[in-house]
Amino acid sequence: MSSNYDAKRKRIFDIYSHDLKKYLQANRKQVFTSDGEVIDQPLYVCPLCLTFFPENAILGPEPFLTLEHVPPKSVGGKSKILTCKNCNNIAGAKLDKTLLHHLQTQPFLTKMPGAAIDAVFKFEENKVFKGTLANQDDKGFLITINPQAFPHFDQKMRKVFSGGKVDVSFQVPSESAKNQAYLRIAFLECFSLFGYDFLFNKNTEELCKQLVYGTESILPYSTYGRIKPSVPLKDELISLHVIKEPPELQAYLVVFQIKERRQGNKENIAMIIPGPGEQAWANYLHYGAFSEYGGDLNIKKIENFTGVADCQHFGYQKLWDVFLK
Ligand SMILES: [Zn+2]
Repeated sequence: MSSNYDAKRKRIFDIYSHDLKKYLQANRKQVFTSDGEVIDQPLYVCPLCLTFFPENAILGPEPFLTLEHVPPKSVGGKSKILTCKNCNNIAGAKLDKTLLHHLQTQPFLTKMPGAAIDAVFKFEENKVFKGTLANQDDKGFLITINPQAFPHFDQKMRKVFSGGKVDVSFQVPSESAKNQAYLRIAFLECFSLFGYDFLFNKNTEELCKQLVYGTESILPYSTYGRIKPSVPLKDELISLHVIKEPPELQAYLVVFQIKERRQGNKENIAMIIPGPGEQAWANYLHYGAFSEYGGDLNIKKIENFTGVADCQHFGYQKLWDVFLK
């Protein structure tokens, strides 16, 4: 582990432990040991499992608190915050893979000429070949298989052309796994900007539960706040916004980009994050019926807000009040 990484962990730890201190002071709260003693040293709370960590959790070759890329590193994200080793590993294994797989399969599914997908070809006698299936403009598909399997494959295909059958199958990530991954990104993006003012909010707790329980449904609708506008989202929208109109849909909106390096495929995603308070939660629930919202949303981009990184504590509540009241 290079010293650069240690310095980065330390810098992030300092910013957020300071933010936590401010939050605790403002809300007249304290943190206690299991023996009932007040903990006075700097602390960092993992935004996913809500475990408290002291500063020594960033030390050593295998620290308990690790750099978290938002979006994940494999889809072009930057390290912005810390999450505990446990939460980071769970994501690494499942959600990162889901997003990368989505970006790699999307061009094929949207019929982009030349775009390919890994596929399995199964013949009547259950003989299986692995290969790729590629779009060929309007001429159908190009099948490519491992050259070593070719003589057998060639015979099988001859049989297919004379009336036999072949099953072609390929895997694409499920909608719920993708939405789970998108929610995690938008959630961590908000934590990176708003800090503990956001994390310890009642509405945020519901999103947090959804992230902890995975694809089991906690939130009342399966898009988890994803909205799909009728036109693709432009790059200049990548930012934090508030939705001002209509009033029953007021919410925060996080637009972010995921991209993969191999073919350069990318996609901009828009996720709703509820503001603070009961009304904002009711608004958030309204989006269950608006996952394909085609009406006009009056959206305001929040400019020049760098959040807790520049000691702008409590922005989650303040920006909401400034923009919507
Ligand atoms: Zn954690």
